[in-house]
Amino acid sequence: MPEKTGWIGLGNMGIPMAKNLLKGGYTVNVYNRTASKADKLIEEGAIFSENIPLLCDESDIIFTMLSDDQAVKGIYLGEGGLLNCKASGKLFINMSTVSPKTSDELSEMSKAVGARFLEAPVSGSVKPAEEGTLIILAAGEEEDFRRAQPLFEQLGKTALFLGGAGAGANAKLAINYFLALTLQGLAETVLFAKKNDIKPADMLRIINEGACGSAITRLKTPSILSGDFSAAFALKHMAKDIRLAREQGIDYPLSAPLADAYKQALEKGLGEEDVMAIIKYLENTDGTTAQ
Ligand code: NAP
Repeated sequence: MPEKTGWIGLGNMGIPMAKNLLKGGYTVNVYNRTASKADKLIEEGAIFSENIPLLCDESDIIFTMLSDDQAVKGIYLGEGGLLNCKASGKLFINMSTVSPKTSDELSEMSKAVGARFLEAPVSGSVKPAEEGTLIILAAGEEEDFRRAQPLFEQLGKTALFLGGAGAGANAKLAINYFLALTLQGLAETVLFAKKNDIKPADMLRIINEGACGSAITRLKTPSILSGDFSAAFALKHMAKDIRLAREQGIDYPLSAPLADAYKQALEKGLGEEDVMAIIKYLENTDGTTAQ
């Protein structure tokens, strides 16, 4: 009998990921703070749980895909939260990006109530989530990783086991540091070129058709050209990830100004837009616009 799954957190990532478990033939019990976000998944076979204890009763392996440390702690520790349910023997898998410290604490607290805990943040955004081609950065106990592997195969193209609790979170903060640097570099390059009368469309071709082009520069090109920054990966989440990387000790020449730029962009009200909207913050710093 395949294990029954529970999914908590139906945002940009949670919905397509839970859908892939359904496609794989798994029972998927879902819960979300905003219940209406489950509607489409229910049409596709998911079962809505009114609350977390019910979801816990009906599921063997329970995933969380939530905004940040505070949201994840709320779902685990709150009254009627995962750690206050009949948790014995359950495997909790947190796929949200949180601090290594939070991950480690949740791991210890899960063990204390007889449950198992894996952290498994992901590299890849909405499209890889839809296509089941995420890169899963798992850490915890290896036997729990083996238990989760058939499910990870539905969600990603690669699932790496990186070590004890905290290792997955650290790897995730490292890759997102690289992503933040890349996107800010792309934005600054396009704006600098524009300031010197090179059209953004031409500059983006120079980047994308040459050695500096990458999947991410090509993916973000349409939004830079159209100015449509509907969120696939909200800027507020990147600001959180860079803040967590700083708290984790990253201190290279570019890390402080990078963290500051994303923080300022957040304060300018760009948090709900896509991370590529960092260009809107940067264009306002010297008056050059990308369009
Ligand atoms: P999202 O679209 O903003 O969705 C956030 C989810 O968290 C929603 O289900 C939301 O519920 C829930 N939530 C937020 N605060 C809550 C609270 N206090 N209590 C209960 N539920 C709460 O986020 P996402 O883009 O799916 O990202 C989820 C996680 O994956 C984040 O940690 C992010 O950093 C990481 N991640 C994202 C991407 C990406 O490209 N989007 C890629 C890799 C990793 P409501 O629906 O009720 O608001």
